[in-house]
Amino acid sequence: MNDKITEAEFDAVFTKAQELSQFFREIGPKYDIENTFAYPSIEAFKKSGLGALPVPKQYGGMGGDLLATSKVVSELSKGDSAITLAYNMHYIMVGITMGLMSETQNKYWLGRVADGDIMFGPFSEQRAGFSGLADMKAIPQEGGGWKLYGKKVWGTLCEAADIVTTNATITDADGNLPENFEERVSAESFFIGEFNVDENGQGDGISIVKTWDALGMHATGTQTVIFDGYYVPEDGFICEWRTGAFGVLEWASLMFASIYLGMQDRILEEARAVLSKKTLGAVFGAVVAADVKVAGVGHIIDGVGDMASRYELSRRVLYRTCEEVSGGYDDNWPIELRFPYIGLAKTFIAENVMHMSRHAMSLVGGQSFKKGAIFERLYRDSAASMFQPLNSDQSRTYIGEVLLAPEELED
Ligand SMILES: Cc1cc2nc3c(=O)[nH]c(=O)nc-3n(C[C@H](O)[C@H](O)[C@H](O)COP(=O)(O)OP(=O)(O)OC[C@H]3O[C@@H](n4cnc5c(N)ncnc54)[C@H](O)[C@@H]3O)c2cc1C
Repeated sequence: MNDKITEAEFDAVFTKAQELSQFFREIGPKYDIENTFAYPSIEAFKKSGLGALPVPKQYGGMGGDLLATSKVVSELSKGDSAITLAYNMHYIMVGITMGLMSETQNKYWLGRVADGDIMFGPFSEQRAGFSGLADMKAIPQEGGGWKLYGKKVWGTLCEAADIVTTNATITDADGNLPENFEERVSAESFFIGEFNVDENGQGDGISIVKTWDALGMHATGTQTVIFDGYYVPEDGFICEWRTGAFGVLEWASLMFASIYLGMQDRILEEARAVLSKKTLGAVFGAVVAADVKVAGVGHIIDGVGDMASRYELSRRVLYRTCEEVSGGYDDNWPIELRFPYIGLAKTFIAENVMHMSRHAMSLVGGQSFKKGAIFERLYRDSAASMFQPLNSDQSRTYIGEVLLAPEELED
């Protein structure tokens, strides 16, 4: 029995992704304007069965590897990047948890995902995003397990999710965080649990507060999640966070890269659709002529060629990185460089998608700047690529530090 997705199985999955992408494309503009989560996407995503793509076949999933999942995420993102970024968090959390959970946990939680349940992962707190140690407390309970208290401000997909994964720092019985930094790092832990909230976002010790109001990526529904005595039994503990889970997070950046690759594809598609047809009529400017088709103007020809080249290079960088990570090539890099080097695919694509969304507007002209134009939305949505980990600045810091002080790091 083949435990990885076969080519024929992938083709069927990809056809479903194309259909779902089309649906996201149709509903996306409404939820961008309304600035809410795209609620009809929940049923459509569950019905597609695509949530089970990365789940190993032994747990009832499809056994999709990194490249297969990346291709599906990009295809969905080409339809609507904001809606897809939400479901991308599901893929990221399934990928992270399945590598770290015990066999019993895998059977239970991944089995549920294979049956259609959705996972999300609010880790970042207001103070310092993803790299900030968790202020959220996990207070040990007398009968076993923990109660979680705290607030996560980046809860993408919370309005659709059935399962929550998060990080919190285990305290003493009185709720005091470890004072020593190293102890605090080791006490930060990774948990999984039920996410049952009613239509007002209220659950037992857990709730959603609708705070999401950002420049772009409106339909991600990245709300605040409040933990106020949320109970996690002992079997909801997965592992230590920084010293356990953090070491296997590198590939997650490739899922973000896949979102922005799909967005690059869409920018190119939309720019070609407008620029191949647009006619200026009689003009007096850089070109002086009685009738000008923009498809014949030098900087526009060059601009579209540049966008296509950036997309193609990004695609190759991403696919090759997925293959290298799956094949273990990254073992050749010093351990400290694995995170930023794998992340280069994401930072490269982030820089290219932001360049393309801006350039497309300048090529299409002022009509692209008006509300409701796809280009102004792509411009706003592409800006989110700066923030998901690793960002370009921190990647360069990681790399520079290793290259400038290799002996110290060896110690
Ligand atoms: C659309 C969207 C959806 C998101 N969804 C989720 C989600 O579902 N779950 C989730 O957990 N998070 C989510 N995030 C949050 C995201 O992953 C980041 O944690 C968040 O953007 C804040 O982190 P930051 O580094 O940008 O900001 P800050 O942490 O406030 O950083 C401020 C500055 O300090 C620098 N900095 C931060 N930490 C370090 C460090 N250790 N070393 C050196 N420099 C540092 C940064 O580079 C930046 O320049 C989402 C973000 C967006 C935009």
